[in-house]
Amino acid sequence: MSEILLEGRQLTRRYATDAGRILTACNGVDLMLGKGETLGIVGESGCGKSTLLRLLTQLERPDAGRLLLGGEDVTGLKGEQLRQSRRHIQMVFQDPAAAFFPRMKAGDAISEPLRNFEKLSRQEINKRVAQLLELVQLPKDYAQRYPHSMSGGQRQRLGIARALALNPSILVCDEATSALDVSVQEQIIRLLVDIQRQRRLSMIFVCHDLALVQSLSHRVMVMYLGNGVEILPGDQVWNKACHPYARALLDSVFAIDMNFSKPIAPLEGDVPSPLDLPAGCPFGARCPRFMERCRSEKPPLVPVAPDHQVACHLYNMA
Ligand code: ADP
Ligand code: MG
Repeated sequence: MSEILLEGRQLTRRYATDAGRILTACNGVDLMLGKGETLGIVGESGCGKSTLLRLLTQLERPDAGRLLLGGEDVTGLKGEQLRQSRRHIQMVFQDPAAAFFPRMKAGDAISEPLRNFEKLSRQEINKRVAQLLELVQLPKDYAQRYPHSMSGGQRQRLGIARALALNPSILVCDEATSALDVSVQEQIIRLLVDIQRQRRLSMIFVCHDLALVQSLSHRVMVMYLGNGVEILPGDQVWNKACHPYARALLDSVFAIDMNFSKPIAPLEGDVPSPLDLPAGCPFGARCPRFMERCRSEKPPLVPVAPDHQVACHLYNMA
């Protein structure tokens, strides 16, 4: 991997529920993101993807674990230091419409982060807005339009422009294309990949569509019940993924009329709950390869090949 830009070590986030129970949304996640790298994160709904992103973007603080940005520990930053640190990592959301005030024109919406962070003249702001619109391939005069008068795809281009306004080194996309029609989704993905290459951006792309994620990611992390269970190069996912959960996901995608863009189908077996995390392997209750050891001992991520790690006792020689 190239120079490591972002690193999560044992990131954990728990929420107290109304009933006084503890829900573990992220359970000791380790990950690294290299400069210019796209890391895909995939897993069923509720497995903790968005929570992990909120920890990585410092919108929330982990209950345990550390976050390093450019080699520096940023876990406990507060106030102005936190604000400055956060500008380097920006997020594109699933529904850009919700991110924009209805009465704000597109130009103002995408320049809002700029105005919050930098003292610029009106003229300089207009120039930056024009550059951003060009970057996301929208006409300049769209600056004067209202986002709600645009199509979903155009609004998502605005969302990307806004996320790039501060020239971040990391762009995080949380199901950023999931709400769009397939053809529009393809255009937005192509745009993101172009921008990522041009600017040597690091990108984290979260999605429940395994085929899409693996096609555009250098590496893919598979999440299950708040845990990262396997990390491997995107182009090796189909052939080399070996965690029983990852295999089950792949088989379920294969089984359904070979439609690789189908969202992950729920697997059979007890539906796991982040309220009652098992002591051992998080996938134990549903795993076809379950062994006694899996009941009590949580498998750590261990390397099985270059750039390939798995958290499964089948591959854990320790
Ligand atoms: P995903 O993005 O993979 O669908 P989330 O990170 O949104 O998963 O959610 C993971 C788990 O954490 C879910 O069980 C969800 O209900 C729970 N959760 C997420 N945010 C909160 C919160 N603010 N308070 C309580 N529970 C939460
Ligand atoms: Mg989510």
